[in-house]
Amino acid sequence: MAKKNLYEILEVDADASQADVKKSYRKLARQYHPDLNPEDDEAAKMFKLVKEAYDVLSNPLERDKYDEMLFSGAGGGSTDWDDEDEEEDIFANGDGSMSSATARSDAPVNGNDLRYDLEITFEDSAFGLETEIRLQRSSGCDVCSSTGTEPGTQTEPCMNCNGTGRVNVTRSTPYGPQTTTAVCEVCHGRGRIVPYPCARCNGTGQIQVFDSIPVKIPPGVDEGARLRIRGRGEPGQNGGTPGDLYIVVHIKDHPIFERHGNEILCEKQITFAQAVFGAEIEVPTLEGAAKMKIPPGTQTGTIFRLRGKGIWDSNSGARGDQHVKVSIMTPVNLTDKQKGLLLKFAQSLGEDTRYLGR
Ligand SMILES: [Zn+2]
Ligand SMILES: [Zn+2]
Repeated sequence: MAKKNLYEILEVDADASQADVKKSYRKLARQYHPDLNPEDDEAAKMFKLVKEAYDVLSNPLERDKYDEMLFSGAGGGSTDWDDEDEEEDIFANGDGSMSSATARSDAPVNGNDLRYDLEITFEDSAFGLETEIRLQRSSGCDVCSSTGTEPGTQTEPCMNCNGTGRVNVTRSTPYGPQTTTAVCEVCHGRGRIVPYPCARCNGTGQIQVFDSIPVKIPPGVDEGARLRIRGRGEPGQNGGTPGDLYIVVHIKDHPIFERHGNEILCEKQITFAQAVFGAEIEVPTLEGAAKMKIPPGTQTGTIFRLRGKGIWDSNSGARGDQHVKVSIMTPVNLTDKQKGLLLKFAQSLGEDTRYLGR
C-alpha cells in the first residue's frame, strides 16, 4: 500500500486553510486518541501520524517546504518528512494561531536567509577588504508574471480530477473498503494544468537573477566569521520581510605567515656568523620587508617580537604582534679550505675532532 501524504492523513485538501487543518486535526486526534482506543495499535499509529502531519501543515513555512517537496515529485506521497530545520520554531505565524480568514496563500512569508562562502587572502583578513559579490537568487518571472503560463495562453482544467484538485481513492481495510480523497497527482491539487509553460521560466514562475552586493570585510576578520547583511537574503512573499545574507569568511593559508589570534608567526633562517656576531637582518612582514636586529650569540629557535606588525583586533582597535622564529643554517658544500678553517676553529674551542666526518 502506498504511503499517504500529509494532507491525506489529515483528510484535508492541499489548499485547505489553516483553520480547516486545525479543525480536521482536532477531529482526528479525538478519533484516534489512545485513551479512547485502549490497546488498539492501529489507532495509536494513526494518532501519531496525524500529530506529525499537523506539526508540519500547521506551520506555514514548513507547509510551504513540504508542498514544494510533494508537488515537485521528490518523495511525493510519502509521509517521510525530513524535519532537519532547527529554525522551525522561531518563525512568526508558526504557532497555528492564524485566523480562518487568513488563507495561507495570502499570509506573509518571510524570505529565507542565504549563505555565501567568501574566500579571502591572508593579507585581506589582516587589513580588511571592500569587494563585491555576485549572488544568484530566484525571482518572480517577469515574462509570465510568475504564473508559469506562456503569455497569451491559458491554463486548462485538469482532466484527471475534473478540476477539483483531488481524486477519490478506495482502499481495503480490515473493516471493509474505505474511500478517502487524495491530492490529484496530475495537477498536484491545483485543479488546473498549464498546457503551454512559459519558455523563460520553464513553467516554474521563477527565474534566477544575479545580485551584485557590496561587502565590507573589517580588518582582523577571523576564519569562519559570519557577516550579516540585513535584508539581502531571499525576498519575502505577501509582504513578509526578506531574509538576511550571511557571508562566511574563509582565509587562504599564507606561504610565510601563520596566524594565532591576532598574532602572526613566521620563521627566518640566519647564518652561523649572523648568529655569532649579531646582525641587522631583513624579515618579511605583512607590509613588505622590514629590518630586525638580532643580538650576538643568538641561539637557533629564539623567537623575536615585532610589535604591532600582527593583525588588527576588531574589538580593541589595537594591533597584534609579529613573532619571528630564527633558525641557524648549517653551511653545506664547503670547499676543502673552508673545511680546514672550520676544523681549526673547532679545535680552538677544545672540541674533540677525531670522530668528525666519520
Ligand atoms: Zn515565466
Ligand atoms: Zn488534477
